[in-house]
Amino acid sequence: MDIHVHFRDFELSYKEDAVSGTQAALAGGYIAVGDMPNTKPPIKTVELLRKKIEEFNRKTKLHIRHYFGAPQDPSILKDALINGAYAVGEVLPEEVLDYGGDQYLEALFQEAARVGIPIVMHCEDPVIINQYSGPRDFEHHNVIRGPRAELACVHNIIKLVYRYGTKVHMTHLTLPQSISMIRLSALTSPLT
Ligand SMILES: [Zn+2]
Repeated sequence: MDIHVHFRDFELSYKEDAVSGTQAALAGGYIAVGDMPNTKPPIKTVELLRKKIEEFNRKTKLHIRHYFGAPQDPSILKDALINGAYAVGEVLPEEVLDYGGDQYLEALFQEAARVGIPIVMHCEDPVIINQYSGPRDFEHHNVIRGPRAELACVHNIIKLVYRYGTKVHMTHLTLPQSISMIRLSALTSPLT
């Protein structure tokens, strides 16, 4: 099983879609995948989630888990879960910033724990990313999104997991220090 794929359906289906993506997965020996919600439009409403699940059921026999995009209003998480959402995320730093930063994360983690839906975090602190004022091109990617951004986010998420008991999986990590912190925290919390 591959728990993290981006099949890019709807308006980005020229990159990949349910058909080409699941064919590639099967060719590689995968019988189940978890598909991320940052399609265009992103899967952030229950209506779109249902539409996507219906479409996938029509197009493929592969077993698919559908992620739900981090919603601006976390109170819809229960409805998303009932309608087939597997987990929230991956939650991107840009979304966190757009929806109110740390205050938003608190609300999201609290509600996800209450409802019982896990969260997948793409962990980089958006405030630190925005502190960078140099050129924003590919060559500077590692400076714009440097180690401080990842480590600050990992610290913050560990705190929220302990505070609310939210089930969290960290994705796209790049630093051995992050892995060490998460491994240690995972011994006493629902973090992977
Ligand atoms: Zn991803």
